[in-house]
Amino acid sequence: MKHDTIAPADPVADEQILPDCLALVRAAYRDDPHPDLAARLDRLDRLRTALVDHRQALIRAVQSDFTTRPGAETDLLEIIPVLESIAHTRTHLRKWMRSSRRSVPLGLWGARAAVHYQPKGVVGIMVPWNFPLFLSLSPLAGALAAGNRVMIKMSELAPATAKAVEQMIAAEFDKAEVAVITGGPDVAAEFSALPFDHLLFTGSTSVGRKVMQAAAQNLTPVTLELGGKSPAIVHPDFPLKTAASRIAFGKGLNAGQICVAPDYVLVQRTKVDDFIAAYTKAVQKLYPTQADNPDYTSIISPDHKSRIEGLIEDAQAKGAIITSLAPPAEDFDGTQKLPMSVAIQVDPTMDLMNDEIFGPVLPIVAYDDLEDALAYVNDRDRPLALYYFDWDKDRTQHVIQSTHSGGAAINDVVTQVAADDMPFGGIGASGMGHYHGHEGFLTFSKAKSVLHKGRFNTTWFIQAPWGKALFRMYVWLMLKWRG
Ligand code: NAD
Repeated sequence: MKHDTIAPADPVADEQILPDCLALVRAAYRDDPHPDLAARLDRLDRLRTALVDHRQALIRAVQSDFTTRPGAETDLLEIIPVLESIAHTRTHLRKWMRSSRRSVPLGLWGARAAVHYQPKGVVGIMVPWNFPLFLSLSPLAGALAAGNRVMIKMSELAPATAKAVEQMIAAEFDKAEVAVITGGPDVAAEFSALPFDHLLFTGSTSVGRKVMQAAAQNLTPVTLELGGKSPAIVHPDFPLKTAASRIAFGKGLNAGQICVAPDYVLVQRTKVDDFIAAYTKAVQKLYPTQADNPDYTSIISPDHKSRIEGLIEDAQAKGAIITSLAPPAEDFDGTQKLPMSVAIQVDPTMDLMNDEIFGPVLPIVAYDDLEDALAYVNDRDRPLALYYFDWDKDRTQHVIQSTHSGGAAINDVVTQVAADDMPFGGIGASGMGHYHGHEGFLTFSKAKSVLHKGRFNTTWFIQAPWGKALFRMYVWLMLKWRG
């Protein structure tokens, strides 16, 4: 059944628009509650076609939202990863959709048991501004692969991208299949209160709490993809030049506005000066200039720029030394950029060391031995990512096992996100649940246990009257066998 398209969702003036949209999408889901493999592959193919056809418009839109954001970063960090995730899902979907046979206990002898992976229904996806394409379209691919219909709320801080995504989706999908919603925090709050069958929110920890509260009213299951302060630990035996250049790559991308960007780095006390020298060189190689360099991304908005400047000022007032790594003559006034910089003499009283930085400042925390560095990490909220630089396998294993984080990369930063065959998600303050790859399919599916009995009741002996000899024998056997 073909549904009428819903009223345009921008601007959302009428408070019935979102519930009406959900009703429309849910009705369409009920008409087709278990799309087969071909239908799901068709949806993934349409998403791929839409993305390829609209690639240039999307790159321009992201660029205009950020003022400066190289198209190469949008290709590398948004468009290619979505295409990769679609390709990975296409390859494995048939296997993921298969029901899985399970065993039954003796008391159910003769019955068949299987877990069926059923679409949950209508999935809500809430998107932040920093990677507005990847963080809308990658969960969309997962939710469609699992057979769901989807409503996506784009970020108000990336309005051009929101519009471009809306147009891209409209080119290939009926609004009853995938509906794109735009609007500000009020719309977002209303969106999070809708009785979805699953809600995936990507954003800050503080808003994540509100989203979970709103979803709890409907007992809507949530996946929270949040942020936090992801540390990088450099072991003193590891070559500093290699660590510094890999960290500079991850901190420079999107000017540090990445949920898994290395927030701060722990360096052994005697190596701090050498690390700063190597990091400075690495940054200057990547970005010989910054203020006027089209390869170096701007901060998304004046408010976010002031927020980061506030962190710097607070740290300086409390004794930190912040050194810009941009050429001295460069003037950032009048731009929406901030220079890449390092901060030393930082301490836990500073906002810079408590709030997620989400910008191009790299604080350096000196440690004496590795256990001190691990204690520093373990004393704080569990981060989304942890990075450890060391060639030694035993020490690396020790670090992985004695810290908690959503994910980790060894001898690199950020790139763990690109491996779509691994789950992605935080722990504690950095989030809950997973998506990407098979785990994404499972998140957006209900694992439904189905027990199937045949014509004959082969386990009649586990019914009253309880005095039957066979029942007594069964109880005796079970207690003997399992007790
Ligand atoms: P944010 O939490 O400020 O906003 C996210 C979304 O929440 C926005 O679209 C906004 O409209 C909406 N919102 C605002 N108020 C709301 C309310 N009361 N109820 C419901 N929704 C509301 O985050 P942001 O500034 O867009 O993004 C940056 C944050 O996102 C950082 O903390 C970053 O670490 C995190 N992030 C996490 C991931 C991840 O995958 N874990 C990825 C990217 C960004």
